[in-house]
Amino acid sequence: MQNASMEELWLSSHFSGGNQTYLDELFEAYLADPNSVPEQWRSVFDKLPNINDEVTTDTPHQPVRDHFLLMGKAPNLAADTLAPAIVTEHERKQVRVHQLATAYRFRGHQQSKLDPLNLVERPKVPDLDLSFHGLSDADSDTVYQCGNFYFGKTEAPLKEILADLESTYCSSVGAEFTHIVNTAERRWIEQRMESVRSKPEYSVEAKKHILERLGAAEGMEKFLGSKYPGTKRFGLEGGEALIPLMDELIQRSGSYGAKEVVIGMAHRGRLNMLVNILGKNPSDLFEEFEGKSFLSESQGSGDVKYHQGFSSNVMTSGGELHLALAFNPSHLEIAAPVVEGSVRARQDRRNDATGELVVPVNIHGDAAFAGQGVVMETFQMSQTRAYGTGGTVHIVINNQVGFTTSKQEDARSTEYCTDIAKMVQAPIFHVNGDDPEAVVFVTQMAIDYRQQFKRDVVIDLVCYRRRGHNEADEPAMTQPIMYSIIRKHKSTFELYASKLVETGVVTQDYVKQVANDYRDALESGEHVAKALVKEPNSELFVDWTPYLNQPVVDDFDSGMDLKELQALAKKINTTPEGFSMQRQVNKIIEDRIKMANGALPVNWGFAETLAYATVIENGQPVRITGQDVGRGTFVHRHAVWHNQKDGSTYVPLAHLSEDQPKFQIYDSFLSEEAVLAFEYGYATTMPNAMVVWEAQFGDFANGAQVVIDQFITSGEHKWGRLCGLTMLLPHGYEGQGPEHSSARLERFLQLCAEQNIQVIMPTTPAQVFHMLRRQAIRNLRKPLVVMSPKSLLRHKDATSSLEELANGKFETVISEVNDKVDPKKAKRLVLCSGKVYYDLVDKREKEQAYDVAIVRIEQLYPFPEQRLLDVVKTFKRVEDVVWCQEEPMNQGAWYSSQHHMRKVINEVNNSLYLRYAGREASASPAAGYMALHLEQLEKFLNDAILNVQ
Ligand code: AMP
Repeated sequence: MQNASMEELWLSSHFSGGNQTYLDELFEAYLADPNSVPEQWRSVFDKLPNINDEVTTDTPHQPVRDHFLLMGKAPNLAADTLAPAIVTEHERKQVRVHQLATAYRFRGHQQSKLDPLNLVERPKVPDLDLSFHGLSDADSDTVYQCGNFYFGKTEAPLKEILADLESTYCSSVGAEFTHIVNTAERRWIEQRMESVRSKPEYSVEAKKHILERLGAAEGMEKFLGSKYPGTKRFGLEGGEALIPLMDELIQRSGSYGAKEVVIGMAHRGRLNMLVNILGKNPSDLFEEFEGKSFLSESQGSGDVKYHQGFSSNVMTSGGELHLALAFNPSHLEIAAPVVEGSVRARQDRRNDATGELVVPVNIHGDAAFAGQGVVMETFQMSQTRAYGTGGTVHIVINNQVGFTTSKQEDARSTEYCTDIAKMVQAPIFHVNGDDPEAVVFVTQMAIDYRQQFKRDVVIDLVCYRRRGHNEADEPAMTQPIMYSIIRKHKSTFELYASKLVETGVVTQDYVKQVANDYRDALESGEHVAKALVKEPNSELFVDWTPYLNQPVVDDFDSGMDLKELQALAKKINTTPEGFSMQRQVNKIIEDRIKMANGALPVNWGFAETLAYATVIENGQPVRITGQDVGRGTFVHRHAVWHNQKDGSTYVPLAHLSEDQPKFQIYDSFLSEEAVLAFEYGYATTMPNAMVVWEAQFGDFANGAQVVIDQFITSGEHKWGRLCGLTMLLPHGYEGQGPEHSSARLERFLQLCAEQNIQVIMPTTPAQVFHMLRRQAIRNLRKPLVVMSPKSLLRHKDATSSLEELANGKFETVISEVNDKVDPKKAKRLVLCSGKVYYDLVDKREKEQAYDVAIVRIEQLYPFPEQRLLDVVKTFKRVEDVVWCQEEPMNQGAWYSSQHHMRKVINEVNNSLYLRYAGREASASPAAGYMALHLEQLEKFLNDAILNVQ
């Protein structure tokens, strides 16, 4: 493996020619001691894939070889081997030396010097003591083998081994990696750290670059602090090392050929990042400080500057790279799954199946990382089929305090704020933020690890917060000791500058110049991100112009040629040769074939899957996720077929043609919050895709309320980010009890304003067909919230004809369809939405009450006032108008939508009063007993159809 990768290296153009011997020697030198080769070469060799395979394979033989080598080199020792007792003692100690090293690998991080404030007293770790392993100072000069350590020597006196272990595992880097079960990964980390004792030797140029980046980080905060004193900016001060970290991360990702890096972060340090990393024009930021708005009134509310996202392109050694910083609300961690979704969309767009081309980076706060459940959900997604992105680099800005809470016994039960990451066996590199070279070192390791193993990795940047939670806050009120230390503590830039001056790398004047140059650049309003590309290559990101400023109109011709529809239906209902279908599924597919031929009326499952087929046929990718979406919670979809003989699966919608757009359908893990946030991220990044999330039951969406409130319903107005996500939320009162009846329609309607979302309760298969096609095919990108059915999926009357699919369009209001009801004679008009329509129809049938007209409002938002007016006008003799809903009075559409209906009715006849027929107000969504459910139903149906209370 190693040879193969070296071979590739020789053959690659810039290594070919007559340099092979030189390179061979360099590589040998690197293997012996990575610090002995120049940094650029180290960087190249570090990145060779599977560099440790050879070492790994060799390892079992190594101690034996080393032992003979040792004996050969030390004649005295060789002689001693003749004395079995002494050999045994030496060997016993040799084993203990190995145990000692293992202890350092396991627990060295607990003794590492991570806290720049030196505030936290860390208990002594007994395993790191010589005596714990039966060794003592008396053994210090005895030479032991270094068999499976990567110190670049085969043997060394114990004191030297100990010093190497201390430097590697207990310095500014504390690494947790022994929880990883994959041996190759663990060895890789050991090799990377031990070979340079966690202190690689950086070139003068590299050191100067780190100094300049730190100067930029500090300069930015100082500048804002003096120009806008007392204004909230959630400064980075104390965590300035984040800027060299991000700089290295982006540059190194670029050197691997990555084309995009998507970053999620909370507010702390965001302005610094925007200006120093993403290249936001400082003068734009200053104008925001001065209160200027960048959105016109029609574009929405805007958002505070430390929630703003940004996009730019930067140059790296591997070419131009697109950077995107996600917008985020104040929920610190919820941006993380949004970033993952956005990354997955970009990877899909680039056919980047391994995740090499698009890298997700999530920056967290220590308190939120330990506290918020969505962090766990995001980690849980990392290796799944539906949500994997080839590994995320997580960075924790660990300033050791969350707002005013810093006591560990209040903040968490875990040792570190990062412990949750161990769940997915991510390596965790804790690093002292006041040692910027160590920070750069762990960053290089993290990105190399991610690119090589395609797994999540965490950098815990242990730092401090120089000021209060924001600049107006007084931190000494709650953290007096911490802040008395911070007040005396020199900045990271000052400390590093002193170090470089002391070691003769730069002069004091040079340091001053760095600070002055930066301030001058800021003052002149120039860009200060050096790698920024002024004329970005627009091919690196999606063109959203076709979707911008689209009119919000209801009418859209979503019909389709009948023959084409039938051909598509045939394709998605053809069983592959030799595929063993399950009996009931087989019957459903046979029925679908009959529906395609017009021999059976079209049902929900047929219409819905056919709609997806037509969207794909239109050249648009489709992605559907949610719990049980393959089959459908209520057994209606069957988009994934399971071979009964071998358990393999077949997805007909993915087999429409050779070169069709992607069709993805994945059953999700049992999360709503992270999953919905992910799909929001996906949909806001891939405008031409139809993205659907289905809740197992509609009320489960309440686990994702943050995503609904902070992103789906308000993202466009806060940030100008369009989103065409579709949410299918099973809803309907069927006597199943309080939990699975309601998708909480009232909450969505309460969030509706300024045409932010669409809320639909479709009642026929043709309606669902046209609703889905309209959502995907027209260029309007608005979230679509669907109260989707459960029992209606199989209701004998909830059917449509093929012609209705081919010729129709989505109807926002469906007028009376029963011929027995003469609009001119109807005395009562019942307005309703959703499944209750069929209950009302049954009741009318039972009572033969054909003087009652029933009108369905299929789209509740944007409310179709004009269309309803047109319909209501046709019922000229109506004396009584009723709104009927199956939800309790304080729920459903009654409170949110009655003003629209009243307006329409008054316009037709201002003596008419809209009355309510439905369940009484209730604290719980639905009755827990079937008998009570039916009693309530009967009562309000009587009220609606017969006006009998
Ligand atoms: P990004 O790749 O996310 O950095 O986006 C690149 C550019 O595309 C942004 O600067 C926006 O102009 C535009 N854009 C991205 N996402 C959206 C969206 N959801 N709605 C509208 N415009 C977008």
